[in-house]
Amino acid sequence: MSLPILIAGGGPAGLCAALCLHQRGFAVRVFEKVEDDVRARFRSRNGALHEADGACLVTADKESFWEPFRSWVFDWINVPAPIETAEAIYEHPLADRDPLPWWTKGRVTLLSDAAHPMHPVGSNGAVQGILDGEKLAELLAAARSQGRDPRLALQEYDASRRPATAAIVELNRQDGPDQVVELAESRAPRGFAHIHDIAGHKELAAIARRYKETSAATLEHANP
Ligand SMILES: Cc1cc2nc3c(=O)[nH]c(=O)nc-3n(C[C@H](O)[C@H](O)[C@H](O)COP(=O)(O)OP(=O)(O)OC[C@H]3O[C@@H](n4cnc5c(N)ncnc54)[C@H](O)[C@@H]3O)c2cc1C
Repeated sequence: MSLPILIAGGGPAGLCAALCLHQRGFAVRVFEKVEDDVRARFRSRNGALHEADGACLVTADKESFWEPFRSWVFDWINVPAPIETAEAIYEHPLADRDPLPWWTKGRVTLLSDAAHPMHPVGSNGAVQGILDGEKLAELLAAARSQGRDPRLALQEYDASRRPATAAIVELNRQDGPDQVVELAESRAPRGFAHIHDIAGHKELAAIARRYKETSAATLEHANP
């Protein structure tokens, strides 16, 4: 009987990889642990540490961020209201690292946030982690059925997913699909009546299409 595949971390990527591997008949074990030094680092920043659903959270000072939102009261939404009445406000660290030169070494590889943390625009953090898990399981299963060394599958996974996710990391640094927000702000800083007053359908569609093609979110990718 083959040894189990060990997965460190039961976030969306770890669980997706575990599920995809299990479905293909692999034995899998998932380990879940938050490092003590991560807790210590957060605690040292402002002395306050809260834990919810296993995550480390730092409390934030409302005054440090809410001034620009104070006037955002519209007939369809009152943005300051939940900020004013919140029992607690938490701060999440924003991670953005340069793409790594490799993920795989021997029998070990990385996936998801551990491999490609990215600016949170375009809803691609967990999504790309899930695609990593699926690809990893697919390549390991193919190597097994062809009687090949599983370490080659980990190299193939690295060669396939690393460039794909690095392109999204780079695009997210240019605001990804949220480029339209910057466009609106630069062309109509005092507001506009209709989005087409500041950009035509063709220009907006081109921004969306570029992001979808880079992140494998086109209809053709989703339904091959
Ligand atoms: C506010 C917010 C909104 C977001 N919105 C979106 C969105 O709309 N769409 C999207 O796709 N993504 C979104 N993301 C990003 C997404 O949450 C992450 O990209 C995703 O959770 C990464 O999954 P992961 O499995 O790699 O890591 P995590 O979800 O961070 O899971 C890692 C797990 O590993 C565990 N662990 C840590 N250290 C160890 C250790 N030493 N050994 C074993 N286990 C360990 C942790 O306890 C944790 O459970 C958002 C993130 C935030 C903070």
